Amino acid sequence: MPRFRTILDTVPAYKPGRAVVSADGRSYKLSSNETPYEPLPSVVEALAVGAREVHRYPDPAAVRLTEALAARYDVPTSHVALGAGSVTVAQQLLQTVGEPGVEVVYAWRSFEAYPLLSDLAGVTSVRVPLVDETHDLDAMAAAITDRTRLVFVCNPNNPTGTAVRRAELEAFLDRVPENVLIVLDEAYREYVRDADVPDGLTFYRDRPNVAVLRTFSKAYGLAGLRVGYLIGHEPVAAAVRKVMVPFAVNSLAQIAAIASLKAEAELLERVDTVVKERTRVREALLAQGWEVPPTEANFVWLRLGEDTTAFAERCAADGVAVRPYPPDGARISIGTPEANDTFLNAAAAFKSR
Ligand code: PMP
Repeated sequence: MPRFRTILDTVPAYKPGRAVVSADGRSYKLSSNETPYEPLPSVVEALAVGAREVHRYPDPAAVRLTEALAARYDVPTSHVALGAGSVTVAQQLLQTVGEPGVEVVYAWRSFEAYPLLSDLAGVTSVRVPLVDETHDLDAMAAAITDRTRLVFVCNPNNPTGTAVRRAELEAFLDRVPENVLIVLDEAYREYVRDADVPDGLTFYRDRPNVAVLRTFSKAYGLAGLRVGYLIGHEPVAAAVRKVMVPFAVNSLAQIAAIASLKAEAELLERVDTVVKERTRVREALLAQGWEVPPTEANFVWLRLGEDTTAFAERCAADGVAVRPYPPDGARISIGTPEANDTFLNAAAAFKSR
């Protein structure tokens, strides 16, 4: 029998969002925060051209995509590091700091990959409970010790959708020692509408220990291709590149990401539509009598406690897949108006059961 690392016996499993089908054949996947839109024709066209070259390895340094991102955000190319989805970049980040005894601080509940990847990297997770479904930045600052090397701040937070504001984030950053890397995970940045929720890049620019994590999976609609990136100062980006598996970002992912940056205006119009639906869904839920934290992302959060699993099952009966996190609550992605209406009907039925 081969012997494995003991941590593999206890590492939490990542449970991806599933699709479900109702008895009458309906299926609405609101469990993975994907965009409900299919890829733009211009992106599909670029992929079709790129498909003819897949007998070749991708550009390992993804030079063209790196340059496109650097130009997009007005940063040097040396400040950009890519990965196969931002979850892989998070894994690379943990590999850059991970050794026994090292602590990584993050809020809980937050993105489920943080505990999983931290365990796999051999670091100690320090989870700081949310207060009112929101990061408790004071408690997070207090949780930092001389063993802390990295802090994740998920803004907006997955799965609650809540966001931290400029003044509180700035005060937090001021309290974190310079030798601790603060990763602002902004997978949902494009959905933020509250002007007081800061763009993490404004903090990165004059703070060498702040890095921003972004993805093409959500607003840009490329979840299936796996491409995400970090923007951070040169030592951070260089370290993340160093631990990258060679050729991790495949050629079609690079091509589609470049095509998506070219078509950004069109993609951001779609984001506006999702944001309008978000407002409609949240208001309808409030009218049904639910408590729904304000959300700056493409999903809503319902704190359901012991009812979480039953709620998810009720939604599944109508073909709506939500993401249950028992025993805390469920996260529901914003989909097409039809999917959202079907979800709202299921939520109303559950409420009046
Ligand atoms: N960060 C957060 C906060 C997320 O919610 C997700 C996706 N669920 C990711 C990172 C990873 O996304 P991807 O790997 O597709 O870029």
